[in-house]
Amino acid sequence: MIEKVEGIILNERAFLENSKIINIITKEYGIIGVIAKGARTLKSDLRSVTSKLTYGTFNIYYKKDKLSTLKSVDIINNFKEIKTSLDKISYATFILDLTEQVMKHTNNLEIYDLLVSALTKINENYDPMVIMNILELKYLEYLGVMPVLDNCSICGSKKAIATLSASKGGYVCHNCLTNEKIVSEKTIKLIKMFYYVDISKIEKTDIKEDIKKEINSFLDEYYDSYTGLYLKSKMFLQNLNRNIYN
Ligand SMILES: [Zn+2]
Repeated sequence: MIEKVEGIILNERAFLENSKIINIITKEYGIIGVIAKGARTLKSDLRSVTSKLTYGTFNIYYKKDKLSTLKSVDIINNFKEIKTSLDKISYATFILDLTEQVMKHTNNLEIYDLLVSALTKINENYDPMVIMNILELKYLEYLGVMPVLDNCSICGSKKAIATLSASKGGYVCHNCLTNEKIVSEKTIKLIKMFYYVDISKIEKTDIKEDIKKEINSFLDEYYDSYTGLYLKSKMFLQNLNRNIYN
């Protein structure tokens, strides 16, 4: 029996002579592997709807714990704005890779809605780095390594927060400060807002470059120190940004 499942293709790989196996993150089942038979032949209707970042309703023969088979796809959003920009594609690719890793740690289906909102906002031309950083911060909770952003990560004081430090695991107050780099007050406030904001309700992302950089560097360093995740697509993104900023 054919089932309709809503999802986004995380990645694809060649399979046999002219088929593909696609990994889809779905609302109902988490990540599933699906065979798209003949999808690599020029005439196939499946050819154009089985690439990374396809967001739609997938009509499949669902098999639990096995590869399902794809019948057809009804596109929900083709993310046209993302696909026409190398910059946006790079952010989206990293977000898909990161989401796949996060799903290895949790089966929480809230991840799916977070992913959809983030990609939709990037497609609507909101700042991709800001959207990525918000998502990265929210994902840390599901990875079980949320930074301390309510009080000093060392003494617990809620007063006189001086900076944000990845190596100390979050906020650091004036009393506990040793030789950490001081970030701006705005960065300290904004990162907390990043955690609480509902991505789907974001209406602006215009943040000063230096503040954006401080938040992004904190998250990069934090991911390196606490998650053990090393994603090639992140390296690519870091190189891209280095070329833009330097
Ligand atoms: Zn302290």
